[in-house]
Amino acid sequence: MRARLGVLGWPVAHSRSPAMHNAALAHMGIEGWRYQLLPVPPALLEQTVRALPASGFAGANVTIPHKQRALAMADSAGDAALAIGAANTLTFADGGAIAAENTDAPGLLAALGREPRGERALVLGAGGSARAAVWALAQASAREVSIWNRTPGRARALAEELGVRAVSEPVAAELLVNCTSVGLEPGADGDRHGAERELSALGLSFAALGSYETVVDLVYRAGAQTALVQAATAHGARVLDGLEVLVHQGALSLELWTGRKAPLEVMRAAARAA
Ligand code: NAP
Repeated sequence: MRARLGVLGWPVAHSRSPAMHNAALAHMGIEGWRYQLLPVPPALLEQTVRALPASGFAGANVTIPHKQRALAMADSAGDAALAIGAANTLTFADGGAIAAENTDAPGLLAALGREPRGERALVLGAGGSARAAVWALAQASAREVSIWNRTPGRARALAEELGVRAVSEPVAAELLVNCTSVGLEPGADGDRHGAERELSALGLSFAALGSYETVVDLVYRAGAQTALVQAATAHGARVLDGLEVLVHQGALSLELWTGRKAPLEVMRAAARAA
């Protein structure tokens, strides 16, 4: 029986996915299944992935830096993975065929809990997660999707490719999504100047955050909230942190592998406790 799952990344030791998925599998009563870390350097990705089905793996999540290559290796891929150009979920069929999907994009929408139809959205960042967020928001009929990035040329290139607009400074919107890695380092904890620096790296100030109704920060870090989450919360915005998005993308992956509804509350509690 193929009853193994895991997350392929390099580095991946910090991942909360094993705790979250193992709690879900236990709650679902899926006997004998286990989810584990799969620390794999880029040079070993291809041979490792090809060996997983015969080693009892039913599927795997994929994280930095392997998402693009995981898609390239797949025998088939879903629309989201193809449009985004990256896969975060691989499913292995009997015989070893690899199906690729991207649950980062629908995971963001699921975490939002509503269609952003007709809303203006501002995405900060132009890397891999920004690409998934912009595609998801445009697909979900956001009225206007704007991209701001520290390196403006990358924002322009991504905007052109996905048919949205790049902006030279953060603009007004109902929804703000941080897809940069600003906030990952705990420099701002307990320090007003550190928090200001963190917001300023995003082109934002504390006062500017009062204008966004919903703020999503994909970043999560151990032990403390990011300056963005703290400031948006202080302004009374609806705030979703990176763990909430992680839980939803993980739940969608688990549903692909098991064909069953994932227990969101159990996954959320395990991810937050990890
Ligand atoms: P990425 O492809 O490496 O992109 C990084 C982005 O951050 C780029 O736009 C980069 O701007 C910007 N950036 C980095 N350092 C910066 C700084 N000091 N000031 C301003 N901008 C800076 O990374 P990614 O895969 O998109 O991931 C971004 C973040 O999202 C990571 O922290 C990751 O952990 C998190 N994430 C969370 C989830 C989740 O489920 N919660 C899922 C995916 C990713 P330049 O173009 O100017 O370099």
